Amino acid sequence: MNIILFGPPGAGKGTQAKYLVKKLNGYQISTGDILRNEIEKDTDIGKKIINNMNDGKFVSDEIVNNLLKNHVFDSNKKEKLIFDGYPRSLNQAKNLDLLLNASNQKIDHIFFLDVNKETIVERIKKRKILEKRSDDDLDTILKRYDTYIETTRPVLDYYSKNPNFHAIDGTMEIDEITSKIEAFLNV
Ligand code: AMP
Repeated sequence: MNIILFGPPGAGKGTQAKYLVKKLNGYQISTGDILRNEIEKDTDIGKKIINNMNDGKFVSDEIVNNLLKNHVFDSNKKEKLIFDGYPRSLNQAKNLDLLLNASNQKIDHIFFLDVNKETIVERIKKRKILEKRSDDDLDTILKRYDTYIETTRPVLDYYSKNPNFHAIDGTMEIDEITSKIEAFLNV
């Protein structure tokens, strides 16, 4: 089963992805983690993307799409992909369809975690204290939210027509959101 967790930064995609990985024996495909790993390892890609990431701007579709490809085509991960933070643009959504088609896969469920701006700001402020992420200061949070509205939210129209699209109130408690997701998955 392949699943997309979709929503603004701070919606709880990562939290639910980690849970689903355990429950379904799946693989979390977090492009944020994949990109941070490039920076930590100081690779050529890492050097190219560090400024954009620290500023709360997107990394180019070209770089992200390329890094993603290996995961979709990894035979161990086939039908066990749990996307967290990808796709974030229409270009990425279309690229994902192409990659899935080429690897004989499809998306089984799309969960939209719907959260308002105020809740996100509060949550990310807390996460900054807990995780010390360099892209979690208030200015950057607001920039990331604006980028979401401009570039990522249009992807909703692309997915909302899909019969396996489920909108969930992301302001609920973590456990409540998990229960809703489980109900759709029948697990
Ligand atoms: P995240 O951990 O998902 O919140 O992502 C952290 C940062 O990584 C984002 O603010 C972007 O700079 C970058 N990033 C992660 N995923 C993507 C993506 N799919 N497309 C472009 N940039 C991304």
